[in-house]
Order: sequence, then C-alpha cells, then structure tokens
Amino acid sequence: MSATQETVREDGIIESVSGPVVTARDLDARMNDVVYVGDEGLMGEVIEIEGDITTIQVYEETSGVGPGEPVENTGEPLTVDLGPGLLDSIYDGVQRPLDVLESKMGSAFLDRGVDAPGIELEKEWDFSAEVVPGDTVEPGDVVGVVEETVTIDHKVLVPPTYEGGEVVTVEEGDLTVDETVVELDNGEEITMHQEWPVREARPSATKKTPRTPLVSGQRILDGLFPIAKGGTAAIPGPFGSGKTVTQHQLAKYADADIIVYVGCGERGNEMTEVIDDFPELEDPSTGNPLMARTSLIANTSNMPVAARESCVYTGITIAEYYRDMGYDVALMADSTSRWAEAMREISSRLEEMPGEEGYPAYLAARLSEFYERAGYFENINGTEGSVSAIGAVSPPGGDFSEPVTQNTLRIVKTFWALDADLAERRHFPAINWNESYSLYKDQLDPWFQDNVAADWPDERQWAVDVLDEEAELREIVQLVGKDALPEDQQLTLEVARYLREAYLQQNAFHPTDTFCPPEKTYLMLTAIHHFNDEAFEALEAGVPVDEIISIEVAPRLNRIGVQEDYEEYVAELKDDISEELRELY
Ligand code: ADP
Repeated sequence: MSATQETVREDGIIESVSGPVVTARDLDARMNDVVYVGDEGLMGEVIEIEGDITTIQVYEETSGVGPGEPVENTGEPLTVDLGPGLLDSIYDGVQRPLDVLESKMGSAFLDRGVDAPGIELEKEWDFSAEVVPGDTVEPGDVVGVVEETVTIDHKVLVPPTYEGGEVVTVEEGDLTVDETVVELDNGEEITMHQEWPVREARPSATKKTPRTPLVSGQRILDGLFPIAKGGTAAIPGPFGSGKTVTQHQLAKYADADIIVYVGCGERGNEMTEVIDDFPELEDPSTGNPLMARTSLIANTSNMPVAARESCVYTGITIAEYYRDMGYDVALMADSTSRWAEAMREISSRLEEMPGEEGYPAYLAARLSEFYERAGYFENINGTEGSVSAIGAVSPPGGDFSEPVTQNTLRIVKTFWALDADLAERRHFPAINWNESYSLYKDQLDPWFQDNVAADWPDERQWAVDVLDEEAELREIVQLVGKDALPEDQQLTLEVARYLREAYLQQNAFHPTDTFCPPEKTYLMLTAIHHFNDEAFEALEAGVPVDEIISIEVAPRLNRIGVQEDYEEYVAELKDDISEELRELY
C-alpha cells in the first residue's frame, strides 16, 4: 500500500502525539490524505482538519515520535497495490509483505517506516494478451492473463478509471507489473499494476440476488444456516467458543475461488498459526497448495491499533479486485470487534462524543459500509463475481447485547451464534442451532434441490422441527424427568440426540470429518430420518421405547461423519436399522 504518487506537498510540524493519534500544524492536507509522520516517515492518514491543525491516525507504532518533527503530505488517499502476486502473500495492515519485511529488517511485524510495495515490482510474469491491435476495450475489460499461481489465472483488466478505446500496441511475454502491456489510441497505458483507494468500493454494473451457496463443508452451516456466494455472515462468540476454528475451516474448505483472510487484532499466536499452517495445507478440491488461492493480511494485537482499520479495507479491496475478474471471493475477518475497539480508542483520543459503551456514533455506519461491499455482482465487464464477507465478533463475556454484535446483526444475513455452554460440553462446532439463522435459506433451496437432492428443504425442515421439539421437551424433562414423558416423546429425544451428536457435531481435526460435502450432509440426515421413521413404526407396533432405543446398530449413525465411503456405509446402515427394528415385532 502506498499513496498513489509521490507528489509531496508542503510539510507540516508535529504538534502532539497521543498513541496512534498525531496532530500537526500548518499541513496543507485534505481528509483521508496519506501522510508520512516524523523523522522516520511513519504512514498515517488524515482523519480530522480543524483550522490549521490536522489530526492523523498513524498506522505504525509512534513511541519516540515527538513534537517538532516533520509531517509530509502525499496528497493522495490510502491505496492498495493490485496486480499479480497478491495471492500466496502475507501482508501487514498497510499491505507491506511480511516476508519481504522480514528479510529487509531481520524480524517481522514491528519495524517502522519501512516501505515496501504490495506486489513485487521486479518479478516478471508471462503475459498472454487476449486483445489485438484494432480491438476496442472499455473499462474493466480483460486485456490478457498471467498464471498467478497453479490455481488462479490473473486477468489483467482495463482500470475502471480509464476511458478505454482502441488497442494500438500489445506486448506479450515476460514483463514486470509496471511495464505497459497494452496501449490505447488515447494514450492510456495498461499495465499489470493498478492502485485503488481502499475506502472506495470498486465500481460494478449491478448487485444481484445471490442464489448459489458458498459451500463450506460444515454440516450445520450448509445444512441449516447456509451463506450465499456474495452473502454476509457474522460469527459472534465468547473466547474459546470456536470463532477462529470456524473461520479457518471456511478459509480451508469454502468453495470460493479466492480467499482473503484478514487477521485483525487477534493474538499474535493465532495469526502465527495461520501463517505457519496455511502454506502447508492443500486445497481439497484441486490438491494444490491452499495459499495459491489465498491472500493473508495479518494485523495482530501487538501491532498498532489504527492499522486494524486499514487491514479490513485492504482486504475488501483485494476481494473486489478478484471479483472484477469474475471470481467468487470469500473474505474472513477475525475479529471485527478488535477493529471496533480501535475505532473506540481513536475516537476517545479525538475526544468525540461517545455513543453506546464508548463506541463512536459512526460504528454502525462503518460496519455497514464494510459489509455492503460484499455481494453477488455483475461486473462492469459483464462477468459475474462475488464477495462473501464473514466477520467474527468477540463480545466481551459472550454478551450478544453489546453494540458491535447488535450493529452487526442488523446488517448481516447469516448469524452463526457460538455458545459457551456447547463449547464447554465439547459440542463442536459450538453453533447454537436455536439462536442461529440464515436469511438465504429459501433462495438457496433451488440450488440444493438441483445439485444435491430434490427433498433437501424437506429434510432440513424435518430436522429443524425435531430440534425445536427437543428444546421444548427439555424444559419439561428438567421439571419431571425423562421417564415421565410419553414413549413417543422419549423417542423424539433419542432422534434429536442423534441429530445433535452425529449431524450437528463435526470434528474439525478429524481428517475425514473435517470436510463434509453437501451430498454427505444430506445422506446423513436421511439416515437419521430413516431411523426415526422405522423407530416410530416399531413403537406403533407395540415395541417398548427402551428396546427401540437400545438397538445395536443405531450408534453407527454417529460414525457416518468419519466414513470416506459414506454412500455405501449409509445404505448398509439403513438396511441394518430396518432389519433390527423389524425383528422386534
Ligand atoms: P475462539 O476463536 O472463539 O477464541 P477457537 O476457535 O480458538 O475459539 O476454539 C477454541 C477451541 O475449541 C479450539 O482450540 C478447539 O479445541 C475447539 N474447537 C472449536 N471448534 C472446533 C471444531 N469444529 N472441532 C473440534 N474442536 C473445535
């Protein structure tokens, strides 16, 4: 990330330094200009101008910076470098590649004033043109491709800010990102390198209703609370309830073309886990390294708070860029609460009027600006692409009534509520099925019906009904005990137990169970449903509920998740369930 041009304007002088907030006098600046602060040239952004005092939030550690030092204005907004090389990269909050920084400075993370371009400027990419002289191109059009990674072809686009025109010259072969690949008759030169101001959404033709699921391979998500490609979701949960594991599962298994993972303000060791783990992982659908479709942005809790904001915006801008190429992108942000806390800290240093619990009044607006950049789009070049945004929320003490959770809830359409009690009972993923919801369910049903099974919605509804009934029965059981229930209700509790233990639970750390394709999710449900139907028939035929419950084969339902050959296993299991139950009458 950098300012667009190094057109340095008049210098100012630091007046005061308060953590990440610096004021400067006599700086000729506009809102959101990028400035270089102090002798070390730390990157910051103008957030307030009052008279001749300019307030700056600084994206780097400011200790040791003091009044009297210079502030240089670049006159340009915060931008992100776009081009081949974004994938398989790990950045800090201001798009400085962590591996490059590490070799430049000897250690990652904390060094200041080091600038490095977001993409490699020297590396050559083998560019193949898709236009010839004489063709006419418009903004957003694809002029050629380079193989960015084994998985992803990077489409080189006419920047949305260009006018477009007739192609005059075309260069092919090994070229660096700043070399011109296509020149137009109006003099516009297209390179593989674009810059984009992070706070501005990249333009699109239209936003459409999303109708395809972002398949996650997590049963409770795909089966009960699906998110659409282009959808928004929040995962709120107290510490230790599984936010990070869920986000990692999505980053590994979601069927998006591109993953942008924003680690925002979480503990350093969690991000280190991602940085160490991800490069080792394989994409289950292609067998290629997972990093080949992934861009990581790491702003850990020991990094400056202001950069939490820039890392979120950097992430969503990178996501939009790949969307413009026609890809389905999934962005995970862990955790949006840390970003909100950064807003609170900056706001309080600015002595702004605090809103609820000290958060600034613009918290809701910022969150919705972020999630609004997600969606299923028709791009300006006519292709379709999507950005799905999934944000973790870490409410203090797991209290969902706090402002960040509440404001997020008003915006997102999928809510996966993590639950401390479930986590404590080691029910994972600890997603509370009574509190969670997806507003995409109905619009995604046709896809599941066409691609998995015609009765997908019916099976889901059956499961939801059983789980609802269980929730009601549990209250009674707490008062009078299970044995006081009529036999049919006792049987319902048993069926619900299989739904919870076999279907809703899924072990992220088991090599097979970790990813459950929708076909398997569906078959597992039909197996439990089959048990339900056969068991109720037996009950009607007069078999005592205790005998039904204790049939030997039923616990095999709990082992479907770990089966590779699940189709065969489920078919056999269904037969065995029928056989054993029918022997009882
Ligand atoms: P959070 O990010 O909410 O603090 P984590 O995602 O780190 O919580 O999860 C805490 C622990 O819970 C994990 O270390 C793991 O042991 C367990 N866990 C969470 N989700 C799962 C899952 N799907 N399968 C197995 N274990 C899980």
